[in-house]
Amino acid sequence: MSLIVQKFGGTSVANAELIMNAANIVTKAYNDGNDVVVVVSAQGDMTDQLIGRANKINSRGSKREMDVLLSAGEQISIALLSIAIEKLGYPVVSILGWQAGVMTNSNYGNAMIKKIEPDRIKKELDKKNIVVVAGFQGLNKYYDVTTLGRGGSDTSAVGIAASLNADICQIFTDVKGVFTADPRKVPSAFKINEISYDEMLELAALGAQVLNNRSVEIAKRHNVLVEVLSSFSGEPGTIVKEATNVEKMLISGVAKDDNIARISIIGIPDVMGWDFKIFSKLASKNINVDIILQSIGRDGTKDITFTVKDEQLEETVDLLNNYCQSLENVKISYDSHVSKISIVGAGIESHPEIAAKMFEALFSAQINIQMISTSEIKISVLIDQDKADKAVLVIHDAFFGPAV
Ligand code: ASP
Ligand code: MG
Repeated sequence: MSLIVQKFGGTSVANAELIMNAANIVTKAYNDGNDVVVVVSAQGDMTDQLIGRANKINSRGSKREMDVLLSAGEQISIALLSIAIEKLGYPVVSILGWQAGVMTNSNYGNAMIKKIEPDRIKKELDKKNIVVVAGFQGLNKYYDVTTLGRGGSDTSAVGIAASLNADICQIFTDVKGVFTADPRKVPSAFKINEISYDEMLELAALGAQVLNNRSVEIAKRHNVLVEVLSSFSGEPGTIVKEATNVEKMLISGVAKDDNIARISIIGIPDVMGWDFKIFSKLASKNINVDIILQSIGRDGTKDITFTVKDEQLEETVDLLNNYCQSLENVKISYDSHVSKISIVGAGIESHPEIAAKMFEALFSAQINIQMISTSEIKISVLIDQDKADKAVLVIHDAFFGPAV
């Protein structure tokens, strides 16, 4: 007998038929003799709809009230799924985030889980109930409802699995698992059977939108075995776990991030301290900097180029213009029409030919590389956004072979 946490995303519970489908999956696991805890998201695009309804009245409603509103989506789902499970004749109880002991900080709209005290869940499991928990929500020290940020029910599921020391956390979704590239754009992309937490973290951060990033961080920290799988296919999905040496693929995926912009500060004095001053200024404004490149000094000046998220471009440029005002001949230039293409894989560290192969693929497709950054398990390049899809395709083909 195992303790299984199963999470159903919005697309897996979008209507009555899909809710019955989820109920069948849950009760099958229960029938097999397992303790089953289920975490659910709001149905379909319910969360977006609720935001829309609020915006019609007041687009600047407080985050606290927005959390009261948005948490209602998950409350509807847990009741409907439980009613479906009752129909199949199984004992079930639905509970909200606070009843499940999910305690968060007070950052309304994007709260962090501080601890989970799953006493109630354990009691219900002892009574042989299937326990259906509302994802995406918790309670802060003022007894206010909070939400965990968009896509946060993955985080709820993995957090609850960690607190219960569950044997596995199954994330049911509308795709078959984690793919080597976006299967809608790359016909030869295929499902990865197994991937390490670190690789998954990189892919998730790069916009492979299967698993919320924070959920993978929690899984890694608490060593929760995660499976991402389809609620429609009945096939095994992708297992996310600690790195193992069996059948390690050199590269596990190619990802694209369009939500990125390049900024260059050209002609700053080639003296000590500028990087420190500029980047601490940005950090103090919570501006996340990604790839950083600095030229070697010549004629007493140097250039610094780095990337930020598109939505922080304007703020960053304003800040730099202000900051560099007093400096003669310093120019700020920027370009938001760029994409970051990355390959992720545990083999990168020990196989220098991987970088060469990636660059060769780009060269063959006549795609110019603007910036490069590398880590032990990742190589990223910055390129023109118009060529991004093509770049993913040629790189994927270079490593995995073209579609047959
Ligand atoms: N319903 C929430 C959202 O759409 C949480 C989730 O689906 O994970 O962001
Ligand atoms: Mg999601």
